[in-house]
Amino acid sequence: MTDAIVIREVGPRDGLQAEAPVPVEDRVRLIEALAAAGLREIEAVSFVSPKAVPSMASPGEVIASVAKADGVRYLGLVPNVRGAQLAVEAGVDALTFTASASAAYNEKNVKMSIEESIEELAGIRAAAGALEIDAVISCAFGSPYEGDIRPERVGLLGDRLLDAGATALSMADTTGMATPRRVRELVAEVGPAVGLHLHETRGTALVNAYAAMELGVRRFDTSVGGLGGSPFAAGAAGNLATEDLVHLCDDLGVVTGVSLDLLLEASALVAAIVGHPVPSRIAAAGPRSRRAS
Ligand code: ZN
Repeated sequence: MTDAIVIREVGPRDGLQAEAPVPVEDRVRLIEALAAAGLREIEAVSFVSPKAVPSMASPGEVIASVAKADGVRYLGLVPNVRGAQLAVEAGVDALTFTASASAAYNEKNVKMSIEESIEELAGIRAAAGALEIDAVISCAFGSPYEGDIRPERVGLLGDRLLDAGATALSMADTTGMATPRRVRELVAEVGPAVGLHLHETRGTALVNAYAAMELGVRRFDTSVGGLGGSPFAAGAAGNLATEDLVHLCDDLGVVTGVSLDLLLEASALVAAIVGHPVPSRIAAAGPRSRRAS
């Protein structure tokens, strides 16, 4: 349980994607603040059409402008082969790619059938050279359109994504339908080597992360401040907040490599950038007192 975990910070992408567009300089400042706080995996940009997602425009400019920190990997989300080509040109360190366990959600999110997404990944693999590709399976715990999704179905999709060139898998609770019981059932099917991408929609993200850590899962996606959400899943508010997970891990003795104090500065920065308070509980309340009585 107390082995170190790896946190992939997705705030600059998944978080800011859900907000009104902010200037490139602000996105760069946020990425640099997150690296300074000790995050070593940062999903920094997305190579999607700026017409479709205006807040993710100019990914190449963002990557070029960031003062790169030693030991930090700056990742880009790519929806298709064209995105992968742009990501390689921009010099990202690794890629993320999303396919959904829900056919209807996949259609809404990337306008492809699941079969087409698997074919697209094979093309991305060819375009990506030696870069690692983490395939993130969205709706892995249920779909707003199809309800519960059986773990076996998620496992089969994972196998096919690995065959198509993914180097790792993450399971995304896009719609906040996961519970500790469902985390146990899915991890029993796919094994603990996967990453988890949890959402707070129904207030279960942190308890799901705790259940997963007990099962040996060691990779988590979180978003500074808890920003984020999908435009294609009603009420899909907020990713698990990075500071909420780090705060819990600090008390459990689980090493994250992240400074909570510096992370809270990054959280205050992102609140200032988006112009509203962030949903994180720890950002609101502050860390528990560390003084002994
Ligand atoms: Zn998310």
